Amino acid sequence: MPVLWLAGVFTVLVCVSIISITLWQLREERTHELAMANTSVANLSRSMAQQADDAFDQADIPVAGIIERLAYDGFESARSPRMHDYLRAVAASVEQIQGLFIYDKDGNWVATSLGHTPDNANNADREYFQFHKAIDSSLPRIGSAIRSRTTGDQVIPLSRRINDADGNFSGVVLATIELAYFDRFFDRFDIGNQGVISLALADGTLLARRPEITTTTGTSLAEGELFSRYLKERYEGTATVISMLDQIKRIYGYKRLDSYPLVVLVGLSEYEVLDSWRQNAWRSLLVIICVLIANLLFGLLLFQQIRFGLKAESQLRIASHSLEKLALQDSLTGLANRRHFQKILSLEFNDGGANLHPLSLIMIDIDLFKSYNDAYGHVSGDKCIIAVALCIRNSLNRTGDLAVRYGGEEMAIFLPYNDARGAFALAEKIRLAVLALDLEHMGNPLGIVSISLGVYACLPHECPTLDAFIERADTALYTAKHQGRNRTVVR
Ligand code: GH3
Ligand code: MG
Ligand code: MG
Repeated sequence: MPVLWLAGVFTVLVCVSIISITLWQLREERTHELAMANTSVANLSRSMAQQADDAFDQADIPVAGIIERLAYDGFESARSPRMHDYLRAVAASVEQIQGLFIYDKDGNWVATSLGHTPDNANNADREYFQFHKAIDSSLPRIGSAIRSRTTGDQVIPLSRRINDADGNFSGVVLATIELAYFDRFFDRFDIGNQGVISLALADGTLLARRPEITTTTGTSLAEGELFSRYLKERYEGTATVISMLDQIKRIYGYKRLDSYPLVVLVGLSEYEVLDSWRQNAWRSLLVIICVLIANLLFGLLLFQQIRFGLKAESQLRIASHSLEKLALQDSLTGLANRRHFQKILSLEFNDGGANLHPLSLIMIDIDLFKSYNDAYGHVSGDKCIIAVALCIRNSLNRTGDLAVRYGGEEMAIFLPYNDARGAFALAEKIRLAVLALDLEHMGNPLGIVSISLGVYACLPHECPTLDAFIERADTALYTAKHQGRNRTVVR
């Protein structure tokens, strides 16, 4: 049974090993894929942030330049044709600048890079104008995306305040940056079907996004986990969060720009990132299932084979045991057969040395058995032989004594450790036991079955050869027959 248990445990162990190794490997691969995605969004967000930084820098440099010029030449120089030409030249040479504008302290247009100035145009209502009017700061300001009044395009306003010599508010310089510029730039990157790139103000107001959503501009991401949690802790990093806009789980790389209150977000859909891993996992799962089924079938086969082997082995043992018995036993009487007898006697006689203890042999023959057969039939003859054999067997009490059916109705008893006297006593005991059976035998003058016995015994160191040993007992039997049967003769 332990073998069966072992086979079962082995099969289960193999299954468990295969499953755990595969699961472990899949887990490792998944972790690796996610780590790679994290690295790539981190790199991408850094590069986007740099690009955005540069784009705003390139727009801010001329704005700062104009402020400097107006401070030097006076605000009125803004109205000169030369300033108009300058604004036009700058707007044309910097790709992302859609337009450059100078407003006076009341919001009236003083100069523009555009071809013409609309009549009575006034931008005093714009948020950036209100901001600069109220707050005395020389830093550039970037506002939420707005729709340009002149072209209708979505633009991001970058503006600075103009101060007069006394430090009083005297107007605003504005550069409008095309949102389309960022869209074009974002389009160059492969972020999958569900990836996203966003540019937002530090307060979470969305400026540009790929893919665009209907309410891109003005949408606030402030409530999202990235702004409400991650960006508060660090200005740069990666995080896996569910988008508040489309509920897609993404791995985000985020970075706040170094010089402007802007944030760049790059997100790759986790589902897409794990696409090839998932396919691989399904394939592995399929292979595993096949291997497991094969292993279980093999285990079952092994189990059956072992069970069959064990059963066959025990049957074989039983068979060989009975065969052994058959080979040494007489089938009719259950006594040893002649082969067994020869074998045991050869052990005593063939080792070359002298016998160290007395050996006796009793030869037994049923008297006038031929006529018994003739009178009662062969079947009854057999029964008679069996009855005599039983008498012999019942008379033996030493384990070393060997009773044998020598042939026909002739039996013998080999008695190691028994001398002539002992053997004679046993022979007589058997003869009387057979007489006591009182089996009718009309052909016998006694009227019942009787036996004749011949005994030969040799003392230690005095035994002849095996053949002589048997022959002498046989002679004694012959003598007993000759002397009138139903007797024991010792030679
Ligand atoms: P004796 O007293 O001189 O031994 O006379 P007997 O007739 O017994 O002579 P013998 O021993 O030579 O005869 C043996 C007979 O035993 C011959 C055969 O008919 C019978 N016999 C031998 N083997 C068997 C056997 O296995 N079964 C039966 N029923 N009879 C057997
Ligand atoms: Mg006989
Ligand atoms: Mg005989």
